[in-house]
Amino acid sequence: MVAEQILRRGVGDSQVLAAMRKVPRDRFLPPDVKNLSYDDRAIPIGYGQTISQPYVVAFMTDALDLKPTDKVLEIGTGSGYQAAILAELVKEVYTIEIIEPLGTRAAGILSELGYKNVNTRIGDGYRGWNEAAPFDAIIVTCSPDAIPQPLIDQLAEGGRMIIPVGPQGEPQQLVLLRKSGGRIEQKKVLPVVFVPMTGEVEKR
Ligand code: SAH
Repeated sequence: MVAEQILRRGVGDSQVLAAMRKVPRDRFLPPDVKNLSYDDRAIPIGYGQTISQPYVVAFMTDALDLKPTDKVLEIGTGSGYQAAILAELVKEVYTIEIIEPLGTRAAGILSELGYKNVNTRIGDGYRGWNEAAPFDAIIVTCSPDAIPQPLIDQLAEGGRMIIPVGPQGEPQQLVLLRKSGGRIEQKKVLPVVFVPMTGEVEKR
């Protein structure tokens, strides 16, 4: 998986590759799709949701330019796989999932695998995790029409955010955003397809 899907497509950071080699992706998949664990695609995990394609996980992780001392927020825990990859690379991970059974399942697997630096929460991630802010990095794995302002506010000075943005049914773009000197710089880095962000964002 790492050699053919990730390294060959240009993600070369040795720490990210080591994390992708170490975390057992099959453990995060429901029994009926375990045989697809290492395929080059997103895979259904129930409740209409998917675990992202391995390359997209590696690409987004790499784009965040993570350091071992970082505190990271993830919106959209899903299977818990991306949270585990982050947990290998940074000090503390905070992850929020809006679908209760998915969040509970992911928390169980992360604890079975011994990850003690992942904090899970069930709820709407639109407003981030204020008590734990600011974050050195924020990764959003569901797609809103526009970047939620509370997430921008919870980014530390020098912080990075990667988020798929775009109306459903239209092409989305992964946007990489950086806060520096109080200013926000952003650029589009990859066309993608993610499940929609639900909850408060739909009313805006
Ligand atoms: N990072 C996940 C990918 C999961 S797909 C993984 O590694 O498996 C995106 C997830 O975002 C879905 O589980 C979906 O339920 C969740 N989601 C959608 N809107 C959300 C919101 N407002 N807050 C938190 N999670 C949300």
